[in-house]
Order: sequence, then structure tokens, then C-alpha cells
Amino acid sequence: MLHRTFIVLFSLSIMLVSFVVNAQPKQKNEGKPKNVILLIGDGMGLAQVYGAKLTSETPLNILKSTHVGMMTTHSSNDEVTDSGAGGTAIATGFKTKNGMIGMTPDSVEVPSMLDIFASKGLSTGVVVSCAVTHATPASFIAKDVSRNHSEAIALDYLNSPVDVVIGGGLKHFNKRKDGRSLTKEMESKGFVFYDKLSANIKKGSSKLLILSDSVHPVKMLEGRGKLLPDGTQIALETLGKHPKGFFLMVEGSQIDWAGHANDSAYLISEMRDFDETVGVALNFLKENPETLVIVTADHETGGLTFPHGAIKGTYRFDFSTGDHTGIMVPVYAFGVGAEAFTGQYDNTDLIRKIMEVTGYKF
Ligand code: MG
Ligand code: ZN
Repeated sequence: MLHRTFIVLFSLSIMLVSFVVNAQPKQKNEGKPKNVILLIGDGMGLAQVYGAKLTSETPLNILKSTHVGMMTTHSSNDEVTDSGAGGTAIATGFKTKNGMIGMTPDSVEVPSMLDIFASKGLSTGVVVSCAVTHATPASFIAKDVSRNHSEAIALDYLNSPVDVVIGGGLKHFNKRKDGRSLTKEMESKGFVFYDKLSANIKKGSSKLLILSDSVHPVKMLEGRGKLLPDGTQIALETLGKHPKGFFLMVEGSQIDWAGHANDSAYLISEMRDFDETVGVALNFLKENPETLVIVTADHETGGLTFPHGAIKGTYRFDFSTGDHTGIMVPVYAFGVGAEAFTGQYDNTDLIRKIMEVTGYKF
């Protein structure tokens, strides 16, 4: 009898201890992120990241990630994707044919994660270092059979729920065949419009349209300056005020163009700009721990390699192609929910993982 009482008491005390342990306050990385920042380096394979590391005197922000995954990137009709199909797979979770935007291969329009987050009441934005009508940002905003329909894609911005838009592409909004001024039409929908990134951006406006260039902003090597990191900072200050949280997509657009050009100096300067922008997102995460930051790519460009002596002095890397390649790309995750992004998966799985950790249905 005494023996049995002891066992019961012992079990009860074990239960009590485990209850007390479980009742400890949650660590800050538990729970669901309120904000999602997705940074896409267009054409940024592992070699591009490593090349930036090799040539940088300070540690890369990207490589501070403790949760890393790998994504396959093929499109519905090719082992090697373009940025339209690659962006669409990431943004919507559907494979499509190279050249298409926001649609399945049989031209059925599908919502992007920006559309989905906006429909849940979050604020949303895109910040890029190309025309905002270009394939990657267009994948989050537009639905079109061709990534080249720049004017139709600009019109999709007018009808998108997006709140903050920063990049180039003014021509496609205001010098159109249909004669419309989409910047005026967006102003009448509540956007504050600027034709450059200036210090006088009105704080407090919740809808911002900044189109800094007629088509594409220039290269870093030609003096683009801080468009991407400062644009990202402005977007975070604007979207960060929203009580329900936000989704922001940021693209280092010209990493890809440097790869196509097989230009090492161009590549490194664009990678540095992108990594500095990742730093802006990580600073936001430090101040706002209820945030998930994902850094990834739509595909690799250039087939970049590092032969002996490649980095001595002049940074002359080797490229095996002027095109995209079909190699897997890395995914670096930070903040709440980062654990979900380790392992090996397909680019169409990224949206499912993001929706799962944020607690929204996909
Ligand atoms: Mg792109
Ligand atoms: Zn490309």
C-alpha cells in the first residue's frame, strides 16, 4: 500500500515538473511570424554567394543564416527556368512555361503570395533594382502570357492590392500606347508618387509609388547608389506600421544581368548591394522579432566557377555560359519559423512553407 502511494505521488510530481517546464515563457523564435520579407537575388546561385564572400572584407549578412535549404528551379517545360517561370513558381506555387507570369501553362491565372497576404489584411510591397514591370516583380503582381507585355503588367499594378512599389519602369506607366497616366490613376487611389528616391519621402503615407528611372535603374558600377537598401528601408518603415503585419518582396535584379554578361566586377558589385539590403532586413528583424526573413534565388546565371587564382587582385571568375543554369539554389532563412526552410525541396514548395509558418491557408 505504502509502496503504491509512493508511486502515485512520484508520478504526480513528475507531471507537476513537466507542467512547470512547459509553462516557461516561449522563446522569441517560437510562434508565428507577423511580417515576411522575401529577398530574391535573381541569378544568385551558391557560387555567386561564395564569390561575394571571397571578395568581401566583412562577413556577408546572407551567411549569418543558421537555417539553410536547397531548391530545385526547373520550369514546366524546361530543366532551365527563366525569371518569369521561376518567379511564378516562388510567388504562386505553380510551375509554368518559361516566359509566362502568374499563370499555369494553360493560361489559368493564379494568386501570388502577395495577393494572398493582401487578402488576409496584411500590407504588401515590392522593391527592385530593375523596372517594376520586369519578370520577377511582375510574378508577384501581374498575370500575363508574356513577361514582355510591360504596359499590360504596369496596368496590373493599378489593379493589384500592393501598397508600396519601388524600382524603375516609369515609361510603362506614363508613356503608353493607350495614353493613360497610371501614376496619376494610382495617385487617385491613394498612392504618393515620386520619380526618385529622395530624402523628402513623406513619412506617414501608407501607399508609396517610387519609379526612379524610365526603364531600368543603372548598374551599381554606374552609380545606382542606395536605391535597393534605402528603398527597402523606406518600404519597411511604411509597411511596418501596419498592425496586422506585412509581406515585402525585394529583388537584387541585376545579379542575373552580370551573370549573362559574364562580368565579375558587375557581379560582385550587385552581390554587395544585395547583401547590404539583406542587412537592412536583418536590422528590421532585430527590432521586430516577429518577422521571417527569407533570402533565395529564382535560378543561377552564368555557370559561375572559381579556378585557381581567380580572386587574386582582379576578381576574374570563370563562367561556363551566358545563360541561366538548372542547378539548385540556396534558401537562407532567419527569424520566426526559419526552421521550416531547411532541407531540400522544389521552388513551388516555398509558398507552402511560408503559408504554413505564418498560419495562413494556401
Ligand atoms: Mg528578375
Ligand atoms: Zn536572366
